[in-house]
Amino acid sequence: GLRGHRGWPLAWRAPTPAKHYDVIIIGGGGHGLATAYYLAKNHRVGRIAVLEKGWIGGGNTGRNTTIVRSNYMIGSNVDFYEWSMKLWEGLSQDLNFNVMLSQRGQFNLVHSDAQVDAARRRGNVMRAHGIDAELLDAQAVQEALPQLDYRDSARFPIYGALYQGRAGTARHDAVAWGYARAADRLGVDIIQNCEVSGFEFSGERVVGVKTNLGTIGAGRVGVAVAGNSGRLAQMAGFELPIESHILQAFVSESIKPCLDHVVGFGAAHFYISQSDKGGLVFGGDLDGYNSYAQRGNMPILRDVISSAVALMPQVSRLRLLRHWGGVMDMTMDGSPIIGPTPVDGLFLNGGWCYGGFKATPASGWCFAHSLANGGHHPLATDFTLERFEKGLTLDEKGMGPRPW
Ligand code: FAD
Repeated sequence: GLRGHRGWPLAWRAPTPAKHYDVIIIGGGGHGLATAYYLAKNHRVGRIAVLEKGWIGGGNTGRNTTIVRSNYMIGSNVDFYEWSMKLWEGLSQDLNFNVMLSQRGQFNLVHSDAQVDAARRRGNVMRAHGIDAELLDAQAVQEALPQLDYRDSARFPIYGALYQGRAGTARHDAVAWGYARAADRLGVDIIQNCEVSGFEFSGERVVGVKTNLGTIGAGRVGVAVAGNSGRLAQMAGFELPIESHILQAFVSESIKPCLDHVVGFGAAHFYISQSDKGGLVFGGDLDGYNSYAQRGNMPILRDVISSAVALMPQVSRLRLLRHWGGVMDMTMDGSPIIGPTPVDGLFLNGGWCYGGFKATPASGWCFAHSLANGGHHPLATDFTLERFEKGLTLDEKGMGPRPW
């Protein structure tokens, strides 16, 4: 069937690394590629390279459950994630690449009076910032989502939901490919199979990176390696308040369209949507221990499936098709870090926890600003590394959908 498909042009070049770049970004995930694109587009920085140890989008970008939303309520999180949502809304046009944004709406379910109050408060904060939010009662939820368990015997009765209509999903691979192609066209060198194993210093300042393809000089270096943030910081001689844990995702066999929205369970960490191909896509809690293994395991499978069945009992009749894991960069307050590090010339974008896919456009936007100008972008002033020393944490759990 593919015999006629020969001689296609490459979507991005495969350049040999130059000896020196103005900016090097380590990590060819969504965040690294978006950073390179906005550095070239918004700041017109001359020579930029993205160094990726494997293939672009092979990390969490290509492993996540693709939910995008902006239902945050603390500090910089509120306006930052809403700016990301706005960038998502124009991204296919901006990149000239269909990222398949599907604003199908997300329901965050609530199961107690206390959760109703917490959802009301969150919704009010969102609306005060011009973000769409609606508090729905149980009847309205049942009309929109008849497939959930509303029986008196349900383990966790549904009291209502906080609904964001502009939330939804986007195609994760397309995000990596779209940013890569657009960045390449602005002259960014995307170098795959290039692993950074150390830094070059001149005095106290980082002036380059050591890689399996040799040493490459740089004016500034940005780290955007998600679950490997701690390892890169260690190479540069400092520690991060980040732990790496595995988060797993699950896809069922394909079935006819039955779930029009994204649903977040409020009684356990569980969320579900249906893909264009018909599979139910869902996920839940992290593995409870630190790891860099990009694979799933049976205890979490059992834990997540039990939440699925509590919410939608009919899921128990489905067969599971695929199951995998990605390495999450968990900060202790659930919020990210974007900006300078204690090492001169070295900048960090990390600590995305469960929720960095939705942040991809704004993260690239703000990190590009930091790399071009130093300091923090005005939308990311709270996302400092120093906040952990100063006790200025933004305690908003990376899990997001839980409204308490
Ligand atoms: P990555 O794609 O992981 O990119 C980092 C890159 O750095 C990798 O490609 C890696 O190979 C490279 N790298 C590492 N070390 C080196 C080195 N030494 N040298 C060179 N390159 C290196 N977020 C949401 O918003 N919504 C969701 O629904 C959602 N669901 C998720 C479900 C799962 C199962 C997982 C695993 C994550 C989920 N996330 C979700 C989180 C989201 O995927 C991440 O927060 C985000 O993708 C992280 O940023 P990134 O895309 O740049 O990371």
